[in-house]
Amino acid sequence: MMQHTAVKTVPTTYSRQNPFQAIVLKNVNLNGASSSKETRHIELSLKGSGLSYIPGDALGIIPSNDPELVDSLLKEMKWDEETLVEINKQGETLPLKEALTTHFEITLLSKKILQQAVELTENDELRNLVSVENVNQLKEYTNGRDLLDMLRDFGPWNASAQDIVSLLRKMTPRLYSIASSIAASPEEVHLTIGAVRYTAHGRLRRGVCSVLCAERVQEGDTLPVFIQENKHFHLPDSGEKDIIMVGPGTGIAPFRSFIQQRAVDKATGRSWLFFGDQYSASDFLYQDELEKVQQDGVLTRLETAFSRDTVQKVYVQHKMLENSKELFEWLENGAYFYVCGDKQYMAKDVHNTLIDVIEKEGDTTREAAEAYLEDMKEQGRYQRDVY
Ligand SMILES: Cc1cc2nc3c(=O)[nH]c(=O)nc-3n(C[C@H](O)[C@H](O)[C@H](O)COP(=O)(O)OP(=O)(O)OC[C@H]3O[C@@H](n4cnc5c(N)ncnc54)[C@H](O)[C@@H]3O)c2cc1C
Repeated sequence: MMQHTAVKTVPTTYSRQNPFQAIVLKNVNLNGASSSKETRHIELSLKGSGLSYIPGDALGIIPSNDPELVDSLLKEMKWDEETLVEINKQGETLPLKEALTTHFEITLLSKKILQQAVELTENDELRNLVSVENVNQLKEYTNGRDLLDMLRDFGPWNASAQDIVSLLRKMTPRLYSIASSIAASPEEVHLTIGAVRYTAHGRLRRGVCSVLCAERVQEGDTLPVFIQENKHFHLPDSGEKDIIMVGPGTGIAPFRSFIQQRAVDKATGRSWLFFGDQYSASDFLYQDELEKVQQDGVLTRLETAFSRDTVQKVYVQHKMLENSKELFEWLENGAYFYVCGDKQYMAKDVHNTLIDVIEKEGDTTREAAEAYLEDMKEQGRYQRDVY
């Protein structure tokens, strides 16, 4: 008997290793002209990718470096941009300029890079810096400095371009909380990206991916992307549950997604958003949209905290305290509590304030309030997406 071999068409699955080139449909600044911040609202097309996501997931972007910074490196070292360099242990090669632009991290220094670079220079200062007794100074040096600083500070170099790129780490994708619901915007994904810019050691530094998105990506261009699931941050299964969302700054992103999804689902549970930023006039991200969903009843309550509008700085946690009685009632009623945004300060302050609220309104001890929150966490009713 003849055997038939079925020809299977395997659908392409896009992933971190095989990113989808998503077309940029929209890229606008959400902040007003007087703001000290720049937050981009970016809409990307997922058409033809087969990619999907649920509210709470993140999008990974594989960025490329600032061409000006790459040129400065080439100039500093008098390197020929066409020189082929090996980019991995498998021996794959790229022309130097392309390798520095797309393949390697050139903005972050590490102790390891400096320790290995010692072998490539006669510079005594670097030798001294990496010695065991100077470990703290070494760490300090890496803070706010990049490859260009190292090359400028510790020459003359006895190294080929290959020697230097071999020290570098492969570019890591940047993750962004998805700010849309695919049910509300089919085949699209929206992001809320804060441009990272700061001056350190006399030079303006630019975050690789956020500034790529803010300065160099135009509508019609493409970005290599993939979906990063987030199993620990998602809406309750039931639309009847109440949700409390605390998302100042870019922390608003997943909550825009949550609210859009709840609107499509016609969820009956109440929703309460705490948003904050510097000035209401220039930094009220998505103000029109939020006011509209509030009018429509999709968003039950909206509390805002604009820290620089008043002499006394007001943050989201102050708004939580101001509303502690109702907040606790919502929790007692089974509400889910979500936090997104700054990990270093905001998430800690919100966490402590939540315990304050439970302690005060539950008329209980600190320990019991902490246990209450721990219980909520175990039930999946306290979820955080902080970075
Ligand atoms: C799950 C998740 C979700 C996220 N969601 C969002 C989101 O919705 N929106 C958003 O904008 N970001 C989000 N981020 C952060 C985002 O992934 C990037 O980290 C951010 O955009 C910076 O990336 P970059 O490439 O622009 O900067 P990079 O080139 O990676 O530089 C950032 C680094 O610069 C250094 N740095 C920054 N400021 C200073 C300073 N003042 N002094 C010295 N050093 C400094 C720090 O080492 C910092 O890690 C999320 C992160 C995670 C993990």
